[in-house]
Parts: sequence; structure tokens; C-alpha cells
Amino acid sequence: MLKIVLLGAPGSGKGTQSAKLVERYGVPQVSTGDLLRHAVAERTELGLKAKAAMDAGELVSDDIVVGMMRERLTQPDAENGFILDGFPRSASQAEALDEMLTELNRPLQAVVHLKVDNEEIVGRLMARGRSDDNEETIRNRLGVFEDQTAPLVAHYQAQGLLKQVHGQGDVEEIFARIEAALADVS
Ligand code: AMP
Repeated sequence: MLKIVLLGAPGSGKGTQSAKLVERYGVPQVSTGDLLRHAVAERTELGLKAKAAMDAGELVSDDIVVGMMRERLTQPDAENGFILDGFPRSASQAEALDEMLTELNRPLQAVVHLKVDNEEIVGRLMARGRSDDNEETIRNRLGVFEDQTAPLVAHYQAQGLLKQVHGQGDVEEIFARIEAALADVS
């Protein structure tokens, strides 16, 4: 049983580390970015609505993203836990998540903040080459992160859930730091 959020800038390694946590703890990774990209690829109505915001590096609207999360978290494989990657990304989403998890009687155990220098982030994103990784969109996504998502660090600190993890170095080394940070919750 592990119920956590991975918080970090785009390119901070949330996806990579989530995949390793899935292997280690046997709970699903829930990535709003992956769910949205899937919806775009399938050309669903939701995907068509989300695409413009994603291409611009803006946040997709809460009604789409929160609805998608609610549906995902009520599926049977999330009953024993989950690793949230890329959600919540704003104060309103954090509030919606708190409500949802209270309703489901499955409170968060920890929020891991992967901290990576801005310079390294830009280098990683430029090297990654995803379709929304062009320079302007990257700049926008980092701005959105600073404005909307970074304040969640204080939100979760106040709830006593925050674990700060240094997100630079090799993948295994960072994973070991995350495991150490989670030692008292899992
Ligand atoms: P990611 O894969 O997490 O970097 O997300 C890629 C893009 O999907 C973001 O730049 C946003 O446009 C959108 N997105 C992902 N998660 C969220 C979220 N929680 N709220 C709003 N938009 C999101």
C-alpha cells in the first residue's frame, strides 16, 4: 500500500521514478499527462478539448483533469494505492484531490518533491524531444510550474506530508533517496 504524489517541474524525472516505484511497490502510476496524451491520440472529445492547452504548455481545465482523475482513482487497481505523477498541479486541483481521497477514505501518505535546478531542467527537456518540448512551450510550462504548482510545496508542508528529495544524479541514486524518504510510510 503506497499512496503518494510525485511533485516536480516538467523534466524533473517524475515519470522515470514513478515507473521504478510501480515495480517496487506494485501500485499503479497515474499520470494525467499520459492519460491526456492517450485521449489526444485516440481523438476522443476530451482529447480534442485538451490538445490546444497541451500544445501551448498551459494547464488543461480542471473539469477535464479532475474528472479524469476521479474516474481513474475509482478503478479497482488503485484500491491498494497509487503514485500520482503530474497531478495535482494547482491549488484548486490539490483541494479537489483532498476531497476525493477523503470521500474514498484513502488519504495521502506522502508527497515527494523532486528538486532539480532550472538549468538542468531546460537541458533535459530540450534533449527529450516530445512534441510539446519545443523552446517556447518549455518556457511556458516552467512558468506555469513556478506560478501554479510550486506553491503546492508549502500546501503539503503544512499538512506534514512533504518529503524533499534531491533530483539530480543518476536514476538509481535518486530512487534510493526516494525509498529512504518513504521508509517511514510504506
Ligand atoms: P506532463 O506529461 O505531466 O508533463 O503533462 C503534459 C501536459 O499535459 C501539460 O503541459 C499540461 O498541458 C497537461 N497536463 C498534465 N497534467 C495536468 C494537470 N494535472 N492539470 C492540467 N494540465 C495537465
